[in-house]
This record gives sequence, structure tokens and C-alpha cells, in this order.
Amino acid sequence: MVVMRADSMMQCPDLATTAVHAGREDLTALGLHVPMIDLATTYPMPTIEDGGTAYDVLAAGERPDGQATLVYQRLWNPGVDRFERAVAALEGADASVAFATGMAALTATLLAAVAAGTPHIVAVRPLYGGSDHLLASGLLGTTVSWATPETVGSAIRHDTGLVILETPANPSLELVDIAAVVAQAGDVPVAVDNTFATPVLQQPMRHGATLVLHSATKFMGGHGDVMGGVVAANHEWTARLRQVRAITGAVLHPLAAYELHRGLQTIHVRVRAQQASAAVVAAWLAERVEVSRVLYPGLPGGDPLGLVGTQLSGPGALVAFRLAGGYAAASALLGGLELVTHAVSLGGVDSLIQHPASLTHRIVSADARPDADLLRLSVGLECVDDVIADLDKAFANLP
Ligand SMILES: *Cc1c(COP(=O)(O)O)cnc(C)c1O
Repeated sequence: MVVMRADSMMQCPDLATTAVHAGREDLTALGLHVPMIDLATTYPMPTIEDGGTAYDVLAAGERPDGQATLVYQRLWNPGVDRFERAVAALEGADASVAFATGMAALTATLLAAVAAGTPHIVAVRPLYGGSDHLLASGLLGTTVSWATPETVGSAIRHDTGLVILETPANPSLELVDIAAVVAQAGDVPVAVDNTFATPVLQQPMRHGATLVLHSATKFMGGHGDVMGGVVAANHEWTARLRQVRAITGAVLHPLAAYELHRGLQTIHVRVRAQQASAAVVAAWLAERVEVSRVLYPGLPGGDPLGLVGTQLSGPGALVAFRLAGGYAAASALLGGLELVTHAVSLGGVDSLIQHPASLTHRIVSADARPDADLLRLSVGLECVDDVIADLDKAFANLP
């Protein structure tokens, strides 16, 4: 039988079946079609000894066996576990650990490094403003050396616990060669914030990363209505992260886990469709006289290391651009938009635009803050013609 495919979009992406089914493998045998939501904060214990044994297992960050009491929601929740298994499958990791937000996921990762006696962090800028601020503040007992992808090796010390990078980076969409950083890091684990690419476009562990972080609030949820964070890694790291989570308490709520797990079922379709629109918007912006530069890995000059097609399967759904008229033009453009919402966050079904220097990166030290002429656009699932028409109308607003 010859199966006709309408175009390349119809080819089965590797992750499609995993995205739809991961973390749900046992449902049919249970007589279920979707996971049940278990909101229990506490669980009955057959005996004191049973409870104590189960507590020890969970507090050590290990999986409970099938018969064990789950003790308490801060230690284990079955729906959170399903979401975590799905993320691990998508990232090609042993396991993952979910948190209340992306920042809680980063916090737990940093605390695990501190607990291991290696509190020095090498961080490649730019990072999300909140991550930059957390590291710069030293609030968790970490110290930081800021690096470029080329200077990671020389920034590493005997007490370095982690190298942290983002690619594509927030907000200016630089791409970092993960394998090249891993090679410089030697024995020091490399943590990659994969929020912008999602596992659909990039799986950092394939390139040697030890930890993969996500703000699940963005593409994983995908609809702007749920917060979460997740770290995928090997068993040793996920056990440590579960221990930190149990002690510090930044758990993902079971209802949020349900929404995020459902979001994963369409992530491969959403990311590719949003990316296709973003490529069109980026090319259109590049032709505008009001725009001095478009920062998008899919445009000529946007991928100097040639990572699109190797490390990253596509340029993604975010576009950053600089306005020739500087801050005044950026402000006027935002004021003229109707369909595209002026708001922080990204990765949802609707297009959002924001001014990084004033909002997401406001708390970054002045020498590392994005320039005032930069806007960051997250392209949604609207008809791309309508997104462009809205931008076109707003450009007429410029001084
Ligand atoms: C939003 C974001 C975070 C923080 O995640 P929250 O869910 O808002 O806590 C971290 N990294 C990146 C790249 C982000 O975009």
C-alpha cells in the first residue's frame, strides 16, 4: 500500500507517539482513558512500620513500590509522576522531577549543587532574567562566574557544581553549541534550560547535557493557564532533586500536573505550527525599514555556528527584533497592537510580545541587560496573516 503524504509537515515527527502516550501506558489496563486526578494530601497507612518504610523510600527520592502507601502529597503524587515520566520520555532522560514553577526547578537544582559542596556556578549569559537574578543575588548560597560559551572552561574551579546555559537564549535567541560547552566543562555537569526549544526541537542530553530544565509554564502547558517547572536527568540527579523538593516543598499541584501532561500531547503540533508562522513573521520583519535587526536563528546570519539542523531541528517560535527608532519606537509599536497581546511569558497558543529590558530582564545588572530597542515576540497559532496585519498596523503608529 502506498501511503500518500501531502507534504513534509505530514511526516511523522519522531516524538509524536511519545508526546501523545507517554506517562499513560498503563491506562487501558486500568480501564481508564485519561489519568485520574488524585488530590489527596495524605494517604492511609496500614501500620506504623509500613508508613515509616514508605517514608524512608520517598524521602530518599526513590520511587514507591506498587503496594506502598504514598504517605503525603509533598512526597509523591501519582499524576505528577505521570507528567514526569512523559517529560523524561520526551527528553530521553531516566526520569524527571516536576516543581511548582520554572524558578522552583532552578532553585532545587542550585540547592542540590550547594548540598553537594560545590556551590560555584558557571553561567552563560544571556539567561532568563529571573534565572540571572537568582544567580546574581547568591540568595541560595551559590556564587556565580559569568561566562561566554568560549570562556566556560577557564571559569571552572575545584568547587564548580554546575554549568548553566540557555539555547536558544532568552531574550535574544543566541544559539549555544551544547556539545562544545560540555567538552569544556569536563566532569562538571551541564544544565541546559530547554524552555525555548522544547524537546520537540532539541534534546540537550543527546549532546551531553546532564540536566535539562524547563519552565513548563511556557510551551508544555501551552495555553497560558498553568505554571510549572521540570528537570530531566539521570536517576542519581533526579533522586537528589526529589529529596530537595520534599524538604523545601515547591511541589507541582496535581491539577497543574494534569494540565501540563495534557499539554504535552499536542506540543509537537503546536511547536511546529508556531515555528512555521514565526519563520514567516521573521522574514517579514526583516524587510521593514523600521526594524534595524531581526534576531531569529532561521534567518541568514541568525545561526553562525550552523546548529539549526544538527543540534536544533528548527529555529523555533520566538522572534526578537530591534527597532531603528529605539525605545520610543518599541513603546509606540506595543501601544498599537490589538491581536498580539503585550504581556510577558511565551509559548502559548496566542501571540505575546514584550520589552525585555523593562520586564523579563529588568532585574538583570545594567551591563548585561538587553538593549532598549529590543522586543521579543512569541508567535502563536493565529493565522499568520492576521499576526502580520496587526504588526503592520502597529508600525503605522511609530513616531
Ligand atoms: C519563564 C522562564 C523561566 C522561569 O519559569 P517560571 O515558570 O516563570 O518560574 C525560566 N527560564 C526560561 C527560559 C523562561 O522563559
